[in-house]
Amino acid sequence: MLRETVQRFAQDVVGPKVREMDENEMMDPSIIKGLFEQGLMAIETPGELGGAESSFTAAVIAIEELAKVDPSVSVLCDVHNTLVNTVVRKYGTQEQKEKWLPKLAESSLGSFCLSEPASGSDAFALQTRAKKEGSEWVINGSKMWITNSYEADFFLIFANVDPSKGYRGITCFIATKDMGVKIAKKEQKLGIRASSTCSLNFDDLRVPEENVLGEVGKGYKIAIEILNEGRIGIAAQMLGLAQGAFDKSVPYTYERKQFGQPVGTFQGMQFSIADAAIQIETARLLTYNAARLKDEGKPFTTEAAMAKYWSSVVAQKVAGSAIEWAGGVGFTRETGIEKYWRDSKIGAIYEGTSNIQLQTIAKAVEKRFS
Ligand SMILES: Cc1cc2nc3c(=O)[nH]c(=O)nc-3n(C[C@H](O)[C@H](O)[C@H](O)COP(=O)(O)OP(=O)(O)OC[C@H]3O[C@@H](n4cnc5c(N)ncnc54)[C@H](O)[C@@H]3O)c2cc1C
Repeated sequence: MLRETVQRFAQDVVGPKVREMDENEMMDPSIIKGLFEQGLMAIETPGELGGAESSFTAAVIAIEELAKVDPSVSVLCDVHNTLVNTVVRKYGTQEQKEKWLPKLAESSLGSFCLSEPASGSDAFALQTRAKKEGSEWVINGSKMWITNSYEADFFLIFANVDPSKGYRGITCFIATKDMGVKIAKKEQKLGIRASSTCSLNFDDLRVPEENVLGEVGKGYKIAIEILNEGRIGIAAQMLGLAQGAFDKSVPYTYERKQFGQPVGTFQGMQFSIADAAIQIETARLLTYNAARLKDEGKPFTTEAAMAKYWSSVVAQKVAGSAIEWAGGVGFTRETGIEKYWRDSKIGAIYEGTSNIQLQTIAKAVEKRFS
């Protein structure tokens, strides 16, 4: 039922706006409003706090379905659900949950602020600092590459309260836009152009002490744990993207005739299409399996890394083939096929690059055999 609801929303509401949002590099506010109204921004949040109280797998399905139509809308929903809501739900006090989760379910868009200009893959080298002054924490520093931040009013900020302790000084803070979070620059990107990605500045950003999320000095644990599961969300985004590109291009190959027959019926085309269908299925199985393990409370870190790595490979490959299957038409912006290919590149970069996923998988292999 959820899949059908999201499919309808994606096709009827998002679909007509995809090209315009991509060309304008801007998310239409009505899409964000629609996602909230459809209950897609609080999928795992408990019912009494305004959410759908559904599973992680349900979130994965919503992310996949949105990505079939627009990977930008998909990542907005993904970051809000699998990173922001989950951190508050998992690590927040009862008071924090009651205060923030209903807002995040209703209208307040969230951002997850970890990366900085000098700390990407090496996230714990972050330079943002927080100092206690009376009953407040004062945050100084800057963040880079923050998804949703242009439209967001809720920010999870990772800052170090005691650099002498290394990563054990990293702490997670809740801030809202009106506290003084400043947008420094909105990036112009190759793909997922409607999804905002900004640099943020914090100049003496004052946060009340009750806005520390989890324990002081335990922010690194939050970041690791949350990105491990967040990666399954990105796998779902890339899976949906691959399927979306496939679904858009393949029907054309049975309409377009050359040498007196539909181009899709040439063996060279059939094999390429069959190969892509297999690849999408493998990405789907890896992604759903990782989500299932997570929902069952079983270890899933390696499987999540595999799903994220592989889905991003498949997305790039299938979206590239989808352009070629449609010939010259696939190369034009009008059909929307080329957009999937541009959007696919990000899968190998955010929430841990492909090398970082391979490193995680290699460590698990090493542990088993060494
Ligand atoms: C569109 C977009 C949205 C983003 N959204 C967010 C967000 O919402 N919140 C957030 O906190 N961050 C976000 N990020 C940041 C993202 O997570 C980082 O870009 C990513 O972790 C890579 O960091 P980097 O760009 O600094 O690359 P680098 O870490 O500098 O990596 C450069 C290259 O070196 C390789 N490399 C680095 N270390 C190793 C190693 N140990 N072994 C082998 N190879 C290595 C990488 O694989 C990569 O190929 C976003 C980024 C983008 C582009």
